[in-house]
Amino acid sequence: MPIDFEIPEEIKNQSNLTQMVAEQVMRKYSRYYDEREHERPWEYINFIWPFMKSMEAANLKRSLRQSHNGHNGHGKNGGNGKKKQSTFQVGMIHLIENLSWGDAGIYLCTPSSALAGAAIQAVGTPDQKERFLDRFTHGGPKWGAMAMTEPHAGSDTSAIRARARLDPETNEWVLNGEKIFVTNGKLALEESDGILVVWATLDPSLGRAGMRPFVVEAGTPGVIITKQEHKLGIRASDTVSIVFEDARIPYDNILGDPELKKTEAKTTKGFKGAMKTFDSSRPWVAASALGIARAALEFTRDKLAEEGISVPEAAPYHQLSAIQRDLLQMEADLKAAWLLTIRSAALMDAGKPNSLEASMAKTKAGKVVTSITQKCVELLGPLGYSREYLVEKWMRDAKINDIFEGTGQINTLIVARRILGYTRRELK
Ligand SMILES: Cc1cc2nc3c(=O)[nH]c(=O)nc-3n(C[C@H](O)[C@H](O)[C@H](O)COP(=O)(O)OP(=O)(O)OC[C@H]3O[C@@H](n4cnc5c(N)ncnc54)[C@H](O)[C@@H]3O)c2cc1C
Repeated sequence: MPIDFEIPEEIKNQSNLTQMVAEQVMRKYSRYYDEREHERPWEYINFIWPFMKSMEAANLKRSLRQSHNGHNGHGKNGGNGKKKQSTFQVGMIHLIENLSWGDAGIYLCTPSSALAGAAIQAVGTPDQKERFLDRFTHGGPKWGAMAMTEPHAGSDTSAIRARARLDPETNEWVLNGEKIFVTNGKLALEESDGILVVWATLDPSLGRAGMRPFVVEAGTPGVIITKQEHKLGIRASDTVSIVFEDARIPYDNILGDPELKKTEAKTTKGFKGAMKTFDSSRPWVAASALGIARAALEFTRDKLAEEGISVPEAAPYHQLSAIQRDLLQMEADLKAAWLLTIRSAALMDAGKPNSLEASMAKTKAGKVVTSITQKCVELLGPLGYSREYLVEKWMRDAKINDIFEGTGQINTLIVARRILGYTRRELK
């Protein structure tokens, strides 16, 4: 599929707004919330919520229309006989990149359906989309979160032990287990009328095939937040552990097929739902990484320019100094990761498979942001290491992008398997 490099008008307008929010609202509070980890950036939350609400409303409308028409990635007829392609995912990439340029930790506090929304969009029925996502289109700020990781199950999601049993008397699911490192878990469950998508197993002996996502609504008894993390970076972001003790969930809150078919042991139907969620969330993480990397590179370039160091245009490579070569390399890496990210999102907007491209973008962006921010600290010396500037913070904020939504190693494995045609069992 060719990439359209022209940025649609509606995305340009949105980009101008988010860049302005990033510069004038987020940067102002960056250091403050980095130092006060468990305080909430309400100035930002209240400012961005009306905009996020309208985005959620437009996305829900588009998704319901697609569900009714059969998904083809295209919006309604633009009036000239040609169907208008959705730009939602590409728009999200621009939005997340800009906001993360402002501050990646504060960006993660953006009220939205987030990963819960991605899971519901990926495997929910039209009725479930309306029932769970409509709340994000009105009222006060709300958060969605997703819980997969457990103390004994990280990269290997098939090892999850959280269990969902059907109580035949009440026709409710009963959830038990523990989830750790849940981004926005407290915001979703205790600080708003939000939702948490929890991955649990109907039958642990089935591995991936037994996994299903369940929507847990704020205020559900038996859902207990047990720990708030203290982190290296993205410290403004809310990260918690959650225990489920006989938490009762309505029957209709299971996403996807509730039946375990006789042939289920041979299929990975439940797990495919998780993979579909990652197809949209991995490009989002890549975009966040790129926002941090751009922030660090721009700052470093400006500081070096003040010292008279810049890259002369069209100079032969062998005439450049080591610092000038570093600057060029960082720019090239950033552009490469950006193009992979835009491509993975554009494929999704076109209704085409993007799992390979999403993992490629996530791997590349995770590596690029880690190396660029480290190099920036190195090039600026004490100025890079000092807390007077944000470069040291960007270096700390960077690393998470190489960890969550599948680590760099796991996404590299996915890319290798897909390119070389190996199964999960053949290449692990
Ligand atoms: C701040 C933060 C927020 C998070 N938010 C969420 C969230 O909202 N929801 C959620 O469900 N989870 C969340 N996570 C969890 C995150 O997704 C996991 O940490 C991640 O999937 C890795 O799992 P693990 O930590 O158990 O590492 P492990 O799986 O134990 O891996 C440890 C190391 O071994 C490597 N490794 C593992 N298997 C292989 C292999 N086969 N080949 C090569 N290398 C391998 C990994 O790449 C990694 O470097 C969050 C984590 C953090 C730190």
